[in-house]
Amino acid sequence: MVPKILEFTMPSFSRKMWVSDQAREIWMKKFVQFAECWRQIEWLTVANGIRSCALFFISQQELAGLALVLRKLGLKTVVVSAHIQADQRQNSLCFRTVAGRAKDLRAFCKAWKLGDDETMGRLLGYPPCCRSFFHRVFVQEGLTDCIWPMGSSASESPSDAQTIYVNSIPELNPFWIAVGIRLVPHYACRFDCPKAASFAREFIAVGNEAGYGTFMETALEVLQWPVEWSCLHGIVEIRTPILKISQQSDFTRSKLTINLLSRSFPKEGAAGLCVAPD
Ligand SMILES: [Zn+2]
Repeated sequence: MVPKILEFTMPSFSRKMWVSDQAREIWMKKFVQFAECWRQIEWLTVANGIRSCALFFISQQELAGLALVLRKLGLKTVVVSAHIQADQRQNSLCFRTVAGRAKDLRAFCKAWKLGDDETMGRLLGYPPCCRSFFHRVFVQEGLTDCIWPMGSSASESPSDAQTIYVNSIPELNPFWIAVGIRLVPHYACRFDCPKAASFAREFIAVGNEAGYGTFMETALEVLQWPVEWSCLHGIVEIRTPILKISQQSDFTRSKLTINLLSRSFPKEGAAGLCVAPD
């Protein structure tokens, strides 16, 4: 029997606990720098013709400046929703914004209003297999977190297993999204989806061309560390070598665990996570 995910959701939250001040000092700055360059890569992939539209969050202050930059490239932006972002000191307003050429933006905004996730996914360049996965998990099954279905489809464990072990193509590792580290803009249908992997490599190539090669290498390093993801009673814990992330997920009565196997480990990391044997 497949582990049951119940129809019950918790209020949204996300907390991070670092294993040491040293780990926090070294890595938090790198994460912030990477997130800034990733947002540029999001719209650069549109300017380079890799896909029609990009969807990302941007602060109120940054939006006007970005619109000027994009105009020179023949691109425009449209805000599709506004959000209050809570950080440690204050709440700030940020916008979910779509960037693209005028014709594609019209098509995206129409699809957004209709909730047409297939058209939005196509305009954002997501592979057909990942678009079908999104529709099944988020729309048909009504989940808010796709990590367990993503892991269970890539694992060789029995379908009723509550603890699974997976190897991920590093570019598709979704466990670091909460701190801004990712190399593909969407959740792949599996940890080893070949189409999503080649999409990610196009993003990395754009990042390298834009002079962000060091950031691409940093992300690839982080995405190869071991991770233990577990979910119980609507709360997920993501244990990594340098920090633990707790956040909201779908409600489960029994504990589900995904161990991401790895052979690399940061020197600032705390021991105790599963690393693949030789
Ligand atoms: Zn896929």
